[in-house]
Amino acid sequence: MTRKLVVGNWKMNLDARASAALAREICTKITPEIKTEVWLTPSFTALTSVAAELQGTAVRYGAQNVHWEDKGAYTGEISAPMLKELGCTFVIVGHSERRTLFGDTTETVAKRAAAAFRHQLNVVFCVGETLEQRNNGQTNQVLEQQLNPLISLLQDHQLDLLTIAYEPVWAIGTGVIASAEQISEAHQAIHRYITKHFAKWTGRVLYGGSVAPDNFAEIVALNGVGGGLPGGASLKSQSFVELVQIASEV
Ligand code: PEP
Repeated sequence: MTRKLVVGNWKMNLDARASAALAREICTKITPEIKTEVWLTPSFTALTSVAAELQGTAVRYGAQNVHWEDKGAYTGEISAPMLKELGCTFVIVGHSERRTLFGDTTETVAKRAAAAFRHQLNVVFCVGETLEQRNNGQTNQVLEQQLNPLISLLQDHQLDLLTIAYEPVWAIGTGVIASAEQISEAHQAIHRYITKHFAKWTGRVLYGGSVAPDNFAEIVALNGVGGGLPGGASLKSQSFVELVQIASEV
């Protein structure tokens, strides 16, 4: 059975020193019997200090975004080779904050993912509907629209690098959590849609959106849920490691 995966999204929080301290605390609290895979995403400026703390541990680190070109006149962007040079093994792409606040589209998100794949970086590809789309009964359609450009770019030999995160926009940072039924339905729809195009895909679909120690046990035990992508709860070692422990016990 595939191990559960918990990816901490630290967003634009914690400077390099505070990130290193959090990484250190997390590592000391993760005991050897914990089976969960743990990935951390500090800000770009904290990657090096976090890397130093994670050396020799099983905890991996990655970035919160990546550009689709390897280099060039793209002020403010960062490329896959630059992230590889810092030892990143994965990137998050398509987080709803990137889509809503920074103009990422389904096409640019897929291009970012393609660049990561080209450089052998794992991708946590985020999808999710707004409340309005859910209320209009468009959830599956939106998920398919968000996945389509990815599916057109994805190649068979890259399948192992793909993880999906289902994050309903209305549940991110709001304290409102999707119901077990909503999560199950969306996760099954995502699995169905990807395997319709790539029958061999066995990747994980994570849930994200106000995940916390008091709600995660039910979520991570659901069929089709491969783990979680916590934001707020990943910023404290205690709550984050509790999530990791919960995922290990499923
Ligand atoms: C996220 O950042 O992807 C997220 C789900 O945040 P939170 O857990 O704070 O809702």
